[in-house]
Amino acid sequence: MPYSASTTVSTPLQPSATSSTVRARRDRAGWLRFSPAQPLFRARAAQRLAVLAFHGVTDPRSFAAQLDRLRRFATPVSLQAVEQSVAEGRPLPPRSVLITFDDTDRTVLTHALPALVARRIPAAAFVIAELIGTDQPFWWHEAAFLARHGGRARLLPTGDPARVLALLKALPDPDRRRSLHELRVSATRRSPHQEQLDPDDLRTLRDADVAIGNHTLGHPSLSRCDDATVHAEITGAHLALERWLGEAPSAFAYPDGGYDPRADSVLRQLGYRVGFLSDHRLGPRLPAHPLRISRLQVEATTSTRRFDTILSGLEPALQRWRGATA
Ligand SMILES: [Zn+2]
Repeated sequence: MPYSASTTVSTPLQPSATSSTVRARRDRAGWLRFSPAQPLFRARAAQRLAVLAFHGVTDPRSFAAQLDRLRRFATPVSLQAVEQSVAEGRPLPPRSVLITFDDTDRTVLTHALPALVARRIPAAAFVIAELIGTDQPFWWHEAAFLARHGGRARLLPTGDPARVLALLKALPDPDRRRSLHELRVSATRRSPHQEQLDPDDLRTLRDADVAIGNHTLGHPSLSRCDDATVHAEITGAHLALERWLGEAPSAFAYPDGGYDPRADSVLRQLGYRVGFLSDHRLGPRLPAHPLRISRLQVEATTSTRRFDTILSGLEPALQRWRGATA
């Protein structure tokens, strides 16, 4: 899910921001590239690991421009290389960048994959197992649609889809599921279908050097789930992926990007080698906590100017500073 109430750092574009605010932020971030701090941050970033967390790729040209930038100024590495570095206790090369996708809608197959293959850049895609082979929309898209079309639930406010979503994510998981059901039966329209990847697509991605990782069964906020649900969400997705791919997944991305110690223990039992957060930070070239590897939030539509300042860590540092002083 692109946006989260549980992440400690605000993501680049908040859902509540107006389009003019968003544009102003984008412009400011673009100009950051000329800040005297940018060369310092870039030099520091060369000694860090940048794991980029994308979602869908709606603008293939913009995404291709970002990849070209990485080819010129960074060292794209595979998930396997990160896992190997952890296993051997050997830091990755300077300027290492790993590309990841969360939720993994069909645009990762149709738009991102050709651009990655053309440049021989590996990546990793974290999928929501319950959706594979279905035409169900992501639940947060569905909830926003239903709220816009008269959907009501006892525990949720009416109207503003952004508020409905924020509250829905904060509810204990059984209440979230029940509220989603109430929205479905009360809305005047059904949410449009969304064709998802199927098991063949997962194998196509895997065979083209896009490793497939676990992003739970149904993408709940793990911090809102009881112990049994945390276990079932991770293990259920693990078994499904193993069945589809013929091998057990070894990488996990926390839904909403938030670390959960109970998930950590389930992942250890299942033999996972790496786990990824969405904390909008660079990390060490030898991850100190392999099941808590930092990632930078990036969109495929991000301009290359802004992309540079995210990759250097300057934009994330400013975001944290703004968050701390707000
Ligand atoms: Zn997600």
